[in-house]
Amino acid sequence: MFINNLKILFHQGKQFIPDVTTTDVPGVFRGRPVITDAACNEQQLIDLCPTGAISGKPLSIDLGRCTFCGECAIACPEKIRFTKDYKMSTNDRNRLIVTGDQPIEVDADKVRAEIHRLFGRSLKLREVSAAGDNSCEWELNATSNVNFDMGRFGIDFVASPRHADGIVVTGPISENMAEALEICYHATPDPKILILAGTDAISGGIFADSPALNRSFLDKYKVDLYVPGNPVHPLAFVNGVLSLVRGKK
Ligand code: SF4
Repeated sequence: MFINNLKILFHQGKQFIPDVTTTDVPGVFRGRPVITDAACNEQQLIDLCPTGAISGKPLSIDLGRCTFCGECAIACPEKIRFTKDYKMSTNDRNRLIVTGDQPIEVDADKVRAEIHRLFGRSLKLREVSAAGDNSCEWELNATSNVNFDMGRFGIDFVASPRHADGIVVTGPISENMAEALEICYHATPDPKILILAGTDAISGGIFADSPALNRSFLDKYKVDLYVPGNPVHPLAFVNGVLSLVRGKK
C-alpha cells in the first residue's frame, strides 16, 4: 500500500507551478501581441476584426476589445504575432492599446496607497458573472486549483461580498445584471478594489453594441485593474493582481 502511494506520487510529479510569475505556458496560447513595421494591408485587417479592436495609422490592437481569435495574425503574420506573454494586466486602460512590442504593466503611480498597505498580504475577492458565458469564470476558478494555487499569496475568492475586499466582474454586463452588480458592489466594505476580467467585461466584446447591455456601472466607479483575455488565462489574472497589490511586475 505504502509503496503504491509512493509510486503514484512519483508518477504525478509536482502538481503546482513553483513560480507563477516566470513559468512558460505550454501548448497553444495567444498572449500579448507584437506589431512589427512590416508592410500590410491595414484596411483588410481593420475590416476582418470582429470587435473593431484594430485601428490604423499606426496599426494598433486594443486588448480590451480583442477576442484573441488570431485572425489578424493569420492574415498578416509578418505584421502581427501573438506571443505567449501572459502579463497583460494594467490599471491604465490606454496601456491595453498595443502598437509595437511594449510590455504591459500596472502604472504604480496610479495605484491607490491603501491597496498595497491593506491588500498586499491578504485579498479576498467576490466574483460577479454579469452575463458571462462561463469561460472566464472557469479560468478564474482555476486560479485557486493546485496548479496555480493563488491562495499561496493570500488571494482567495469568497462567497459573499460582505467578506470581500473587492469584486471581479466577468461578462459584458447585461441590463438584467446591472442592478445585481451595483448591489454587490455596495455590499462590499470600503476600501475596495474593482477588477474587470476578460474582453467582455472590459469593453462588451462581441456584444458591445447589444441593446441588452447596461454598462453604466463602469461610468460610476473607478476600475483598479483590467485583465485582458477571452477568456482570461489564470496566469494573466494572478500576475495582474500581484502587480496591483504588491507592486510586482
Ligand atoms: S485577434 Fe483580436 S485584433 Fe486580431 S482579428 Fe481577432 S479580435 Fe481582432
